[in-house]
Amino acid sequence: NLILAFESSCDETSVAVVEDGHIILSNIVATQVNSHKRFGGVVPEVASRHHIEQITSCVQDAMTEANVSYDDLDAVAVTYGPGLVGALLVGVSAAKAIAFAHELPLIPVNHMAGHIFAARYESEINYPSMALLVSGGHTELVYMPEEGQFEIIGETRDDAAGEAYDKVGRVLGMTYPSGKEIDELAHTGKDTFNFPRAMIKDDNYDFSFSGLKSAFINTVHHADQLGETLDRADLATSFQQSVVDVLAEKTLRACHEYDIKQLILAGGVAANKGLRVRLEADMEKMPTVEFVKAPIKLCGDNAAMIGAAGYVEFLKGQRAGLDLNADPSLEFDWIA
Ligand code: ATP
Ligand code: MG
Ligand code: FE
Repeated sequence: NLILAFESSCDETSVAVVEDGHIILSNIVATQVNSHKRFGGVVPEVASRHHIEQITSCVQDAMTEANVSYDDLDAVAVTYGPGLVGALLVGVSAAKAIAFAHELPLIPVNHMAGHIFAARYESEINYPSMALLVSGGHTELVYMPEEGQFEIIGETRDDAAGEAYDKVGRVLGMTYPSGKEIDELAHTGKDTFNFPRAMIKDDNYDFSFSGLKSAFINTVHHADQLGETLDRADLATSFQQSVVDVLAEKTLRACHEYDIKQLILAGGVAANKGLRVRLEADMEKMPTVEFVKAPIKLCGDNAAMIGAAGYVEFLKGQRAGLDLNADPSLEFDWIA
């Protein structure tokens, strides 16, 4: 089975050819971060235009690198939400055009399900499973009792973890997105600031990162006013330690409460080394639950993860018509 997959929900234009939902034949990712850097975030109009400019060559490159022809393909899968509507529409339109021209079934894929299925390149997914989904726009604990079922048992009440990284990075003068840079800096300092760990003891699985973000920004601005310079590495370490503590503690509690076979770590922030190492150590104490991390290279937005999720839906007979529309606020649903 060969699936041609599309992803264009935010600022990455990506096209992949995936075999049997877990072998990558090609995964072309054209990122636009350089165009958005000077604005400190993604500008929707700029994103749409870039997708339009990039998508055709991404398809060509994906097909060439995979060394397949359109006749070899079994289906076309595409992210149709959540994300920026103008950005999503570029991928959806391109996928429809190819599905129509080559008489291939069209598979609609939820971007967040795609993030979870990036883990499929590391291991098979065994249900019931729990996913800690941490990205630029989402921070969720997702319980999956069986294939195709998603229940959000907890989520952020304000900022997503990735969003907090990017906003804090801006105050440190880093360029967008700054998660990776803070992560690297965090390994060289100490947790001297002891920032708040919001909701860590609350009896629920929700998160909140805006208080941490404000505490961080206030600390830096206050020092600026006094003409003091704070240790950047210690700031980064303190921030990251707070984020990781809360994510790990709530995730561990969910793993204890729910009868699960697997914990999956996925989403852009799942690339965070501090988080990976911390959860690895914690999960060693829970040998009945297998810990599966999405491969670091597949944590950020890419079409290979959409191909993996699309394959599952393909097997279940999920199909979209050529009237498929982008849904910017798409939520988890039973995918089959
Ligand atoms: P969503 O998937 O919620 O729609 P998105 O697609 O924009 O949002 P992703 O591409 O999944 O988000 O992730 C991007 C985010 O991951 C950015 O906020 C970035 O700073 C963050 N990130 C990337 N690498 C790291 C890292 N090593 N540590 C922490 N954060 C990271
Ligand atoms: Mg991105
Ligand atoms: Fe994403």
